Amino acid sequence: MPTLFEKLIAGEIPADFVHEDEHCVAFKDVAPQAPVHLLVVPREPIESLAAAEDRHKPLLGHLLRVVDKVASDAGLTDGYRVAINTGEGGGQTVPHLHLHVLGGRGMSWPPG
Ligand code: 5GP
Repeated sequence: MPTLFEKLIAGEIPADFVHEDEHCVAFKDVAPQAPVHLLVVPREPIESLAAAEDRHKPLLGHLLRVVDKVASDAGLTDGYRVAINTGEGGGQTVPHLHLHVLGGRGMSWPPG
């Protein structure tokens, strides 16, 4: 079964894309938790960060570079929050690795 994000990448579910390359895409979260809330998602449907393997190291580095690019493109000059919810206990609801990029408001710590 394709994941929700695979369907979105395939164009079967509409999304507001802000970045696309051969390895990943980034789009606006449908339920934003901040004025800017983007998701950076690898095309490969890795289930979670915990399911990533050593062979994914270059891809994981690439995802972080894209995080900073889309944050910069979104005008988050004051900083931003990156979150990777991992597994049920980590609050992950979509079983396809994704990096949340949040900004445009002050971020408190600790997160909920
Ligand atoms: P998680 O809870 O797994 O860390 O994050 C999943 C995120 O995907 C949530 O922030 C949720 O709002 C977002 N999301 C779920 N379904 C859709 C959708 O169909 N389109 C978009 N753009 N975001 C979605």
